[in-house]
Amino acid sequence: MSDIAICSDCKKPLGKHAQLGLLPSQETCVACTTARRVKHMLAMCPDERDHAWEGLSAFEQEFLASVRRQVAHGRTLSEKQFQVLERIYARV
Ligand SMILES: [Zn+2]
Repeated sequence: MSDIAICSDCKKPLGKHAQLGLLPSQETCVACTTARRVKHMLAMCPDERDHAWEGLSAFEQEFLASVRRQVAHGRTLSEKQFQVLERIYARV
């Protein structure tokens, strides 16, 4: 194959996972796909201004606030944080 697939976000060549078709999106690498998913989930989860915020536990409120700070500083989530975010997102 002469074409090398490039991630549309970071412009790095896509890894073998993408070439094997294991990713839902073929256009972004694993890191960028994860980052997009995190951004989407954070956008969908309630914040302090939403009525639904009161339906979250104190832990979840603190978790969302700290993860949003983390992402705002350009940091990525740990595997554990990603799973917790998936769990909250599944309920909202
Ligand atoms: Zn990328």
